[in-house]
This record gives sequence, structure tokens and C-alpha cells, in this order.
Amino acid sequence: MSGVYTFGVRTGQAYAMIDITGEVQNIVSKSGVKNGICIVFVPHTTAGITINENADPDVVRDFLMEIGKIVPLHDGYQHIEGNSAAHIKASMMGFSQTVIIEEGRLLLGTWQGIYFTEFDGPRNRKVHVKIIEG
Ligand code: ZN
Repeated sequence: MSGVYTFGVRTGQAYAMIDITGEVQNIVSKSGVKNGICIVFVPHTTAGITINENADPDVVRDFLMEIGKIVPLHDGYQHIEGNSAAHIKASMMGFSQTVIIEEGRLLLGTWQGIYFTEFDGPRNRKVHVKIIEG
């Protein structure tokens, strides 16, 4: 097993947290790998990836509200493209997550989901997944 699997994410709003756990688990299941690690990588500069609660949708709402306060949309930024806030927020999340695979399943906590975090949408985005058996 040595490929990179890629899937698309269509983000409908400027800011969004999209639960991609199902897509990632499907790739793990199709790979046939029972034990190993799964690396999920976002190849963008204004979107990132994080792991957080997937039970109460208010967590997503609160998360996006607060991160918007920490990094204001306009704050005297110099970047000509006008999306510095999105670049900064994306780096705060980071661009990859590593999850253990055990018995063919992502070894996430009961309340955890993998979230694609959009900060400069709406856009068509990509997510790469690499699975390493071991
Ligand atoms: Zn930019």
C-alpha cells in the first residue's frame, strides 16, 4: 500500500469547519490496512485541519466566533491579497493531523472528529491522505 489518496472538499462559506472523518475512514477502510498510521494533509495556505468535538454543533459555532476575535479580519495587514487573517488562522490550525489506525478503524476519541477548517471560502479544496502500515 503506497499511494496518496486525495478527495475534494467544497466549502460553502467564508469560514467553516467541515467534518471529514467519514471520508478519511472510508479511505482507511478501502486501503485494507488494519494497523498503522494515517496522515491527513491539507495542501492550502488559507485552510487547515484540526481534531475536535463532533457531537455538539455549537462547538463549531463558538470555535469560529472566537478564532475570528483572536485574528481580526482587518487589522492593518500589508498582504496585497487581503486575506492575511485567513493565512494566520490556517497556520494556527496546522496543515496535517496524524491518527492511529487500529483494527481498520481510526483510533479517535469518542467525541472526536477530524475537521477541515476553511478561512477563505467558498472554494474547492483538496485533502491528501497517506496510510502507513505497521
Ligand atoms: Zn493571501
